[in-house]
Amino acid sequence: MNTRTNRNDRELLEMLRRLDGGGYPAYKELRGAYAFPRFTLHVDHVQGDPFAAPSRVHVVVPAEIAALPARSYAGESRAIGTASFLTRQFETAVRRISGSAGGGGLGSGKSGTIAIDAPGQSVIARTSVMVREGEVEARFTVGLPANGRRINGRAAAKMLLDQVPAIVEQALIMTEHAEAHAEPHALTDALTTAADTNEDADALRAALTEYGLVAFVANGAVLPRRSGIDDRPLEQGAVPFVSPPAFETTITLPNAGAVTGMGIPEGVTLIVGGGFHGKSTLLAALERAVYNHRPGDGRDRVATIASAVKIRAEDGRAVSSVDISPFINNLPGNRATHAFSSENASGSTSQAANIMEALEAGAKLLLIDEDTAATNFMIRDARMQELIAKDSEPITPFVDRVRALYEEHGVSSILVAGGSGDYFDVADRVIAMREYEARDVTEEAQSIAARMQTGRAREGGGPIGEVLPRVIDLTSLDPRRGRRAESVRARGRRAIEFGHGTIDLALVSQIVERGQTRAIGAALALLAREGAGSTANLPALLDRIEDLIENHGLDALDSRRPGDLVRFRRFELAAALNRLRTIRMAPLDRP
Ligand code: ADP
Ligand code: MG
Repeated sequence: MNTRTNRNDRELLEMLRRLDGGGYPAYKELRGAYAFPRFTLHVDHVQGDPFAAPSRVHVVVPAEIAALPARSYAGESRAIGTASFLTRQFETAVRRISGSAGGGGLGSGKSGTIAIDAPGQSVIARTSVMVREGEVEARFTVGLPANGRRINGRAAAKMLLDQVPAIVEQALIMTEHAEAHAEPHALTDALTTAADTNEDADALRAALTEYGLVAFVANGAVLPRRSGIDDRPLEQGAVPFVSPPAFETTITLPNAGAVTGMGIPEGVTLIVGGGFHGKSTLLAALERAVYNHRPGDGRDRVATIASAVKIRAEDGRAVSSVDISPFINNLPGNRATHAFSSENASGSTSQAANIMEALEAGAKLLLIDEDTAATNFMIRDARMQELIAKDSEPITPFVDRVRALYEEHGVSSILVAGGSGDYFDVADRVIAMREYEARDVTEEAQSIAARMQTGRAREGGGPIGEVLPRVIDLTSLDPRRGRRAESVRARGRRAIEFGHGTIDLALVSQIVERGQTRAIGAALALLAREGAGSTANLPALLDRIEDLIENHGLDALDSRRPGDLVRFRRFELAAALNRLRTIRMAPLDRP
C-alpha cells in the first residue's frame, strides 16, 4: 500500500525528539509507515490541532507473529467472530495500559487518548480489526500530545513507542500470552469460542429457511437485558427461555452440535399474554437476531431470517411517493395514496409507509409490537365499523392484510398483540407468554375464535398487488453544504447530517451501532458521487451497495479507510434514503 521505504521505530523516536516543542502542524510529517520489531505502524491521518478529531493510525501484525490458531480465521464467519473478539481485547488493553478513559491527560485537547471503535453485544463485520489469513490489522485513533499548541514529543514517544506496542502485544499477539499468562490456553480458548459461536450463529440463520422457519430461540437463551440503555444480559432473576413442546425444533450446528429450541414457522404468528409477562422482550430479541451475538450474550443462539424488518408507527417522519394504497385510501382532500408523500406522516400512514418500503427493499418477515404500533392501523372492531362506515375510514387495518401479505407475497409476520382477539382469526399460531414462559395456545385461540364471533366484517378484500420499486432522482441526493462539495456526518447512532438535511434514524431500531450509521452515511455519499445527474430505482441502488461491500469490503465505501465502519443491511440503508427530507422519488410507472 505504502510504496516508500519504511522507516523504523528508532527513526520515529528521532523524529519526535526533533519535533518536540515545535508548532502542532509539524506533526503532519509523521504520516507514513514505521517498522516495529513485531508489527508495522501506519500513521494515516494527522489531526490539525490538539482539539480536532484525533489522528488515525493502524497496525499490521504479520500472521506468523500474531500466531492465531488457524481455525480462528478459517472462513468468513469465524474471521468476523475473531475480529470482534480482538477488538474487545484491544479496548481492554487500552484501558489497562493507557488509563481508564483511553488515556488523555498528556496535555491539551485530546492529548494522549487512544481509542478503538469497540463492538457492543452484536457481532458484525467491522473495520476496527480485520483478520486476513492470520494477518491482523487494527485501526484506532491517537490524540497526538501537545502543550498548548506545541508538540509534546516526549509524551508522543511514550504513546507511540511504549503504549501502542504494549497494547498490540497484549491484545493481538497470542504467543505473548502463552509466555505471560499462567493459563496460556485461556485466551486461545476464548478466541476459539468467539469464532465457534459466530460460525454457529450464521449456520443457524442459514438453516432457518431449510426448516421453513423465520426465527429460532434456543432453549436456555436469556432474552431480557440489563436495562433500556444497557444491552448486556439481565444478571439477576432472568428466566431462561424454554420452547413449548409443539414448537420444539432441533437444528445441528457445526460446533455446538444439536441445539433444541422454539422454531417459528413462516406465516402469521401472534405473541399474546398479560402485561409485563415478557412479550416485547421476546420480540426485541427476534428483532436483534438478524445479527449475531457475542458468546455469553444470551441471544447467541437466537436467529431471525436476515430479511426481517421491525415495523412501527413513526409519526412525524417524511414520506416520499410511497404506494400505501393497500392500507390507506380515500384520504381527506383526495390525497393520492398510490404515491403518498408527506412532510409529517401520521401514526397510521407512517406505519403503512414503513411496511411498503420494507417490501420494496425485499423484507420477508415483519415484526410488530403493539407497544409501538398505531392502534387504528392494527385493528378496527365491529362496533367501530358500525359507527364509522368504511367509506369514511381510509384505513384497511393490518388484521385484514396480514394474510394477503403472506399468501400473495410470502411475507410472514410476528405480532405482539396482547390487546385484541381479532387477530385469532388470521393467525397460524399463537404463543402466550406467562411469567416469561412461552406456551402454545393456538388451539385454544382457534376454538375461541370459532365459538365467539366478533361480528366484524372483513375489509379491503382485494389483492395487495405488485410492489413496484420507486425511482430516485439522484440530483436530489445532494451532500453539498455551503462551500463544501460533500458534508456528510453521522451524529451518533441516531442521525446523519447530509448536506443541508438531517436524516432522523432514532426509531430505526435495527441500526444497533454508531459505526453502522457512519457506514450508511458513507454509502449515501458514494451514491451521490456516483449517480449525480441520473436516476435509479431504489432496490437496484441497494443491490449495488450490497454487492460493493460483499466484493470489496467496507473500505469500498470510503477511500480514507476509517476504522469505525460497521456493516449495515440493505433495509437500514433504505431507511436512511427514505427519511432524507429533500429526496425526490417517483413511483415506477405501472405497466
Ligand atoms: P410485556 O411486553 O409482556 O408487557 P416486557 O417484555 O416488556 O413485557 O417485560 C416486562 C419486564 O420483564 C421487563 O423489565 C423485562 O426486562 C422483564 N423480563 C422479560 N423477560 C424476562 C425473563 N425471561 N426473565 C426475567 N425478566 C424478564
Ligand atoms: Mg410490551
